[in-house]
Amino acid sequence: MLFQGSCLCGGIRYKVRGSLNQVTHCHCSMCRKAHGAAFATYGRVETGDFVLTSGADELVVYQSSPEVTRTFCKHCGSTIQFIYTDRPGSLWLALGTLDDDPGIKAGQHIFVGSKAPWLEITDDLPQHLARP
Ligand SMILES: [Zn+2]
Ligand SMILES: [Zn+2]
Repeated sequence: MLFQGSCLCGGIRYKVRGSLNQVTHCHCSMCRKAHGAAFATYGRVETGDFVLTSGADELVVYQSSPEVTRTFCKHCGSTIQFIYTDRPGSLWLALGTLDDDPGIKAGQHIFVGSKAPWLEITDDLPQHLARP
């Protein structure tokens, strides 16, 4: 599997040369703020399968908690990655930045205990109050 993605301004481009799995809608308040959206959707990829093809200078790292960093484009603000710094073997890719179909559908909602009050979840995917 090979698919590509980019930020809103196109300065950052990447490709994923492997499988993507555990596609998850996260409703935690930090993801909501980081994305400016009802929830964030991430898929897990092996760190070695993620290749930045352009824009390394545009990618900014924000440490949102002691063990988590989030990366985003310094020009357009697109969120790109969520990384557990104590688990460097894989990263969580912000799927809204994909340009291709990764061939997998979202499988679960997490942190629905922090869900925005103005959002109603209307699908039948499993819902976890926090991290499963
Ligand atoms: Zn950008
Ligand atoms: Zn979250």
